[in-house]
Amino acid sequence: MPSFAKLPASYPIKAACRTLLEQMGWPDGPKCPLCGSYDHLRLEAASCRPGLIKCRDCSRQYSVTTHTLVHSTNLRLSTWIEAMYLSLARSAASLGCDER
Ligand SMILES: [Zn+2]
Repeated sequence: MPSFAKLPASYPIKAACRTLLEQMGWPDGPKCPLCGSYDHLRLEAASCRPGLIKCRDCSRQYSVTTHTLVHSTNLRLSTWIEAMYLSLARSAASLGCDER
């Protein structure tokens, strides 16, 4: 699990943010949000949106942000990561946890 305390400095680029979200959201690898299949193909052509994945069972295309708030806004992934970090830090502080 990555250290949230180091996110703003260590994940400044969009691809790294997407990788982090994939690691957090899909610990067992990409999972189709529509049919639940793990059988997938990464679409890496220059014409494809970064992070796009095709399900080999239902043929739908998805990414780690499909069906999430991130998908329905124009905010950058790094902005979402920072917001999640700040929210978790606030929750941890309210529970009396330190930042170690
Ligand atoms: Zn599917």
